[in-house]
Amino acid sequence: MAAPVPYGRQSIDESDIQEVVNVLRSDWLTQGPAVERFEREVAAYCGTNHALAVANATVALHIACLAAGLGEGDLLWTSPNTFVASANCALYCGAEVDFVDIDPRTLNMSPVVLAEKLKKAKAAGRLPKVVVPVHFAGLSCDMEAISALAREYGFLVIEDASHAVGGNYRSQPIGSCAYGDMVVFSFHPVKIVTTGEGGMILTRNKDLHDKLLRLRSHGITRNPALMEGPPEGGWYYQQIELGFNYRITDMQAALGSSQWKKLDRFVERRHLLADRYDAELKDLPLVLPLRESNGLSALHLYPIRIDPRRTPVTRAEVYASLRAAGIEVNVHYIPVHTQPYYQKMGFRKGDFPEAEKYYAEALSLPMFPSLSEGDQNRVISALRGLLG
Ligand SMILES: *Cc1c(COP(=O)(O)O)cnc(C)c1O
Repeated sequence: MAAPVPYGRQSIDESDIQEVVNVLRSDWLTQGPAVERFEREVAAYCGTNHALAVANATVALHIACLAAGLGEGDLLWTSPNTFVASANCALYCGAEVDFVDIDPRTLNMSPVVLAEKLKKAKAAGRLPKVVVPVHFAGLSCDMEAISALAREYGFLVIEDASHAVGGNYRSQPIGSCAYGDMVVFSFHPVKIVTTGEGGMILTRNKDLHDKLLRLRSHGITRNPALMEGPPEGGWYYQQIELGFNYRITDMQAALGSSQWKKLDRFVERRHLLADRYDAELKDLPLVLPLRESNGLSALHLYPIRIDPRRTPVTRAEVYASLRAAGIEVNVHYIPVHTQPYYQKMGFRKGDFPEAEKYYAEALSLPMFPSLSEGDQNRVISALRGLLG
């Protein structure tokens, strides 16, 4: 039988390997020149002022929330159609979470639902301090509408752009921070570019960047202006708040820089694969994903919906048949509020019906730059066989 086809995987070449080996032969294995170089490259590409590389996107979201001042008694809102990390970050800070249902067309947080929910929250005196829009599958949320609401209601915006590295919005790269206070990237191997584990926080705000720098490294500063009393010598530092060790290594940052050079090619290749899926699947009883909405998706995922109005074949049956054929399709996402941990906090099935309806029909097809035409044909033929 042919080798299994995953839904996503990294693309590592000899130049990536060489860059990592070069670091291993150098003086610095962590927090050396490779980290700063990677940060400068990503900030320059995105057209923003500051970038801070960290151990993964989950900790990036954690310290972004802390830098935003999120704490006990505060509220964070995000999309239910996301990975649990987009919501858990609020709980790490002692804050509460609520969700804003999705627009079934974009699969992103609906700005219309957000506006209605904000109006009610204002009347009830319970506005969120932070809103985390998630650019699902790589397609930007309607950031113009969300940032207008942020100004009106006074919340901070942390974009979870884990899927959207290399995408754009209103002709600016995602990560430009033109609409959000902070933007978070993930470099997990299934994402667009990888550092093994890794993440990045981008911002235009120097105060937020200074705060994030300290939170990444134990809450320690070497800046005399921030110390109580004068420094006692060249060795001196002070811990002025509670921080963490959320650093990334130089090996990972070197891999990140090497991968970043191929970012545009990776995204182009994903669009070529999506062109073929679009053409070959368009007459099946499926809803195909939107790839453009005021900008181009980075296409981390190619999520299809099996339309129950047009076929008796269920998503579970399609999933099982493809898996049996060695095609490792997946489902993104089980709505966060339906997870047992969130149900214990009082959320109920039915709370966010569009996210739940989408989940019941969703299937992510294989989508990664090294997916061969032959393997993509296997996916297409299997779907045509089941649904054609
Ligand atoms: C992958 C992912 C994360 C977490 O990223 P890690 O780097 O694995 O911590 C957060 N949010 C979303 C939407 C993701 O897809």
